[in-house]
Amino acid sequence: GKVLVSGANGFVAVWVVQTLLEHGYSVRGAVRSADKGKHLTKRFASYGDKFEICVVPDITAEGAFDEAVKGVDAIEHTAAPFHFQADDPAEVLDPSIKGTVSILESARKYGTNVKRIVVTSSAAAMMNFGPNPQTLTEKDWNDQAVKELEELGRQASPRAKYMAAKTLGERAAWDFVKKHQSEIKWDVTTLCPPWVLGPVIHEISAPDALNTSCKSMYDIYTKPDAKANNGWWVDVRDLALAHVRSLQKEEAGGERIFIAEGPFAWQDWLDAVPSPKYQKGTPGSGKGLVQLLSYENQKSIRILDLKYRPLPETAAAVVKDYEERGW
Ligand code: NDP
Repeated sequence: GKVLVSGANGFVAVWVVQTLLEHGYSVRGAVRSADKGKHLTKRFASYGDKFEICVVPDITAEGAFDEAVKGVDAIEHTAAPFHFQADDPAEVLDPSIKGTVSILESARKYGTNVKRIVVTSSAAAMMNFGPNPQTLTEKDWNDQAVKELEELGRQASPRAKYMAAKTLGERAAWDFVKKHQSEIKWDVTTLCPPWVLGPVIHEISAPDALNTSCKSMYDIYTKPDAKANNGWWVDVRDLALAHVRSLQKEEAGGERIFIAEGPFAWQDWLDAVPSPKYQKGTPGSGKGLVQLLSYENQKSIRILDLKYRPLPETAAAVVKDYEERGW
């Protein structure tokens, strides 16, 4: 089958494209400009006509994906801004919400072969902080960030703006399916990863240009004072495989799935690969940090049959990547 991947030049997406190709799929990668497709065309040249680029300059425009969805059997919708820099909330809200609705709308109208659409959501769409540590599941939604945005608008924290954008973007997908149920022959799966980390295969000129999660990782390895905080994480290669399995497993249809290996403290990454070239932080100080949020990942293992890479393996791959790039 042929799969449309939106935002195909992004950190997560290039791994998704590569994993799809490795599993025998044909891929149409949607990028914002022809220039952004060049690296991909070169990287996947050995796949011949099994890989092609299509240009969608503005994903928020009506009918943006009308041409892109024609003839594909499935869609992996990964395109969305991930940064904590937004001043005007629309910078993150519009591409997340309108971008999602626009690709679903194009699929409704012109995606006659489409059977499944996977939307890359985020654990940011599940988070709800309480006063005490708690465990979240796929039933949880980040109403806090949406409320903060509603109350504070532009004054809301950039983090809340991003989290609200992911929450509302994912909601828009489920609302669309509900509203158009009788007219569509496809279903939706949403994947909710927390920090996505690992080696980089998308086009990157310098560490400063890294995507948000990889930049945080790079800063940990190269700048003194590892952040004394923590979170949950998944290797980008496992998340890419989750995108492929979501197309292959019938039971994934209509499901929202949290995708993560487990918790980490930033210090854990330094402890995993002690190296004279990179930061040491304070070895062992990651142990015992209280995680305010924990999650259950059983659903991903049950439905997608994932076997998550452990942190030391990802840490080694990341450091090897830096060394090969001379970073
Ligand atoms: P990247 O920044 O590497 O990739 C983002 C992709 O989305 C790029 O192709 C980018 O295109 C595109 N994009 C960004 N803004 C817009 C816009 N306004 N209009 C159209 N396209 C846009 O990020 P990631 O690979 O990390 O993120 C991919 C997805 O995964 C996102 O949906 C993100 O929310 C989600 N995610 C990521 C996590 C992480 O830790 N990395 C964690 C949880 C979820 P361009 O290059 O042209 O800007």
